[in-house]
Amino acid sequence: MKQTQVVGVLLALLCLGTTFDASASGTIPMQFCFRYNIDYDDDDASIGDDYFIEVDAGPGSAPKARGLKVRVEDLDADPADPHPFDGYASYNGVSPGCTPVLDLAVDHQILITTWSEALVGGNVITVRESQFHSVTFRDEHAFQETVNQGWPNPYVLHANHVKERHWRILAAAAFAQYRERGGLSGRTYFIYDEACPFAGGSCSLDGSVWLDPAGSEPYNRHKYGIVHELGHAMLYQTGAGQWFVDFLAPTGVCDAGRADDEGWREHSKEYQSAAASEGYANFYAALVFNDILDSDCRMEEIYSPNWDNDPATPADRAFNCTGDPDPIDQPTSATDYLGTMCDAPTLAMGTALDWQRFLWDASKGPDSLAFVDLVDIWVGSTPSTWCPNGWPVFPPPPPFLPPSPPPPPPWAPCWPSDRMIFYAHPLNGGPLTVDEYYAFTDAMELHGVHTGWIPM
Ligand SMILES: [Zn+2]
Repeated sequence: MKQTQVVGVLLALLCLGTTFDASASGTIPMQFCFRYNIDYDDDDASIGDDYFIEVDAGPGSAPKARGLKVRVEDLDADPADPHPFDGYASYNGVSPGCTPVLDLAVDHQILITTWSEALVGGNVITVRESQFHSVTFRDEHAFQETVNQGWPNPYVLHANHVKERHWRILAAAAFAQYRERGGLSGRTYFIYDEACPFAGGSCSLDGSVWLDPAGSEPYNRHKYGIVHELGHAMLYQTGAGQWFVDFLAPTGVCDAGRADDEGWREHSKEYQSAAASEGYANFYAALVFNDILDSDCRMEEIYSPNWDNDPATPADRAFNCTGDPDPIDQPTSATDYLGTMCDAPTLAMGTALDWQRFLWDASKGPDSLAFVDLVDIWVGSTPSTWCPNGWPVFPPPPPFLPPSPPPPPPWAPCWPSDRMIFYAHPLNGGPLTVDEYYAFTDAMELHGVHTGWIPM
């Protein structure tokens, strides 16, 4: 009998023994499940969130730690094999956030350690102190107990003992990947708990994320902000590349009192390329925490936009994913914020708000586009070749319908306002059906993402 066969027989006998009389064998089957001990500043049923509603989050209903990195160590076991489990909890299925069922030796000391890392849908999300730290954050109050027959099974534990920023970041990012991954797997998303290395604040660069922990409004307290930055990283990791956004619209703004160089806002006029990039990231955050068919979808920004351009009325952080951002105070326009609220010129410019609403409506309804379709369109528009001001230096080519080949250089290096629609066309190699294409173009026009080569 070969050695492998001997081992197989022994394993079979051991399994039979365990199943037949667990207590007499000295082991008990045990499953550990983990939930996050977290809080955010923008988790609120009153704004219409569908997920991470903390008002419901009692000890048994806190957010599940999907895909959490976990080690279960038997301190009294053979030193050569001390780990009943060393890997990632499940991220979906019947027991998300749980280990497999483990056979634990009664009266042995068990030590459980968790890390600020998760594996979700084949993608790793790892939260680190900084880009110069090679290890993830580890829970400092690890569970250490003696295995006994009185334990509940499954045994539900907090993934972390202290409400702290690493865990807020991981919980939001891992949940985002559970909800939508844009068709990507095998990627690693590093999220660093420090300010953006070249600009301060929070940013995404080369497929990684920096979240500034300082200030009165750190991004790690805002689930929408965390997932917004992850959205940028995800789009980069499609392989579509990255470009440096010029957020400076040349003249005029859409929010009275703001200076042109103050940085982007959801409703600030930017070059179309910047508006599209921010609109995609914001749409991803909205999609993760809301059901797409919801009529009450609202989300929150980390700042307070002055939607109606009226300095006399208080600003509101929360806004509608698809409708009028300011329906109560002084209604603006739910369809074309740029055209309604922004100063001229609007050539080759847009707002993230218009892009987000367009993407939301392109995703719902009878011709709904899957998120992966929208990601494909993004990739097809080759953002790495966009120029900052989003407009070619030569006159635009004629309309592309009927279908024509992609415009040759010098058009390709720049990004006219309808470049994305060009690449969405099914006869130009786009990923859409004809019906989806028309849903896409209709939603674009409706929400102020102006189409057509002729300047508007
Ligand atoms: Zn952004």
